[in-house]
Amino acid sequence: MRVLLHACCGPCLLEPFDALVAEHDVTVLYANPNIHPAEEYRRRRDTLLEYAAGHGIQVIEEPYDPAAWMQAIAGRERTPDRRCAACFKLRLSVAARVASELGMDAIATTLTVSPYQDQVAVAEAGEKAASEAGIVYLDADFRDRYPEATRRSRELGMYRQNYCGCMLSDLEAQNAREARRDERRARRQESTES
Ligand code: SF4
Repeated sequence: MRVLLHACCGPCLLEPFDALVAEHDVTVLYANPNIHPAEEYRRRRDTLLEYAAGHGIQVIEEPYDPAAWMQAIAGRERTPDRRCAACFKLRLSVAARVASELGMDAIATTLTVSPYQDQVAVAEAGEKAASEAGIVYLDADFRDRYPEATRRSRELGMYRQNYCGCMLSDLEAQNAREARRDERRARRQESTES
């Protein structure tokens, strides 16, 4: 099959690409209007492009359109489940449209390697987008390959981001890190007082 693999970043590309290319003709699509700010978008894209260039992988980039992401998640900012479902839907709909325009048979996404994403919501978005475009969604679950993806990306010295992508996930990740720091500080204080 001719497969268009939506890729969110370089580290997440490694294992899903290798698994899919063993059976299919795979082209990669970088379509991530969710990533904020633009500098971060370019950093993740360039990490992916550098790896792809070194391995003869063909990559298509969709124009960066953060306004489309804002519109897609509008009204869902405070409900991460609904916000992320809308974000998956937007990106996989773009992938399905591009794949259909190029006469490809199927789409897949590297989001399926991440233990941090809601895999049911990813699959629902992929199935819907593909069926609307008259193509197939390859519903793979690559989470068992995440440790290897982490190991390889570290070994390759790839840029590894510490938040999902959007401005809200950046804030949420910062808050979570601060909460963990406060907890550690409180535990240390408790142990010195006892
Ligand atoms: S947290 Fe990630 S999946 Fe959810 S809306 Fe933000 S960028 Fe998209």
